[in-house]
Amino acid sequence: MVFSDTHCHIYTEQFDQDRPEIMSRAIDMNVRRFFLPNIDSSYIQRLQQAVQEFPQYTYPMMGLHPCSVNQDYEKELEIIENQLFTNESGNYIGVGEIGLDLYWDKTFLKEQIDAFKIQVGWAIKLDLPIVIHVRDAFDEIFDAMDAIYQPELKGIFHCFTGDKSQAEKILEYENFKLGIGGVLTFKNSGLDEVVSPVPLDRIVLETDSPYLAPHPNRGKRNEPSYLMFVAEKLAKIKGVSLEKLSEITEQNTNEVFGL
Ligand SMILES: [Zn+2]
Repeated sequence: MVFSDTHCHIYTEQFDQDRPEIMSRAIDMNVRRFFLPNIDSSYIQRLQQAVQEFPQYTYPMMGLHPCSVNQDYEKELEIIENQLFTNESGNYIGVGEIGLDLYWDKTFLKEQIDAFKIQVGWAIKLDLPIVIHVRDAFDEIFDAMDAIYQPELKGIFHCFTGDKSQAEKILEYENFKLGIGGVLTFKNSGLDEVVSPVPLDRIVLETDSPYLAPHPNRGKRNEPSYLMFVAEKLAKIKGVSLEKLSEITEQNTNEVFGL
């Protein structure tokens, strides 16, 4: 029985002191695949380094995170595009993370939308899945998606924390999954009720390490071994064994990343 952390940032500075220990702890807990979304150009070298260090376990992605979109986003996109299309060192398995975040700042909404659409266009060209980050911007992301959506587009709405109607809307995008993480374990998040009717074949597991650690480690630095807290909670909600959950979510992960 193995699991995949479909979204973690183990290459960031938060893991510089103990990255090998963090990795072996996760591997011991049966978390065997680590999907690594990029943030912006300043992280590319770190991302590559982590992949070199743990080649048999890691799957890198390339993209510009919405929180890194500012007045210089076109320069950033040029670097990301170059990474994706020349692919010297990357072998990127997806375009991510990309999306819209209006939680902190709405200043660059127009630029965020533009960056999102451009990167989705690259994913379509390269036949790669996209990993979407959306925070306080579901209406805007659905508008942007509907403008460029093609049925062959695949991807994940990562760290899904929306409501029932937003989950239903995502399920209409045929080849998209909901990435479920630590928030599922939070008391009073209400996410258990939202996730309960979502078919298991539309769900993948993630931690978003180092962020959003699940209960009972809420508030601490998150790490991929904590994926098991999410898996246990989801198995309980769905009334399936951990083995069954592993089987289905691994298949979903393979499907969305074309593995
Ligand atoms: Zn992330």
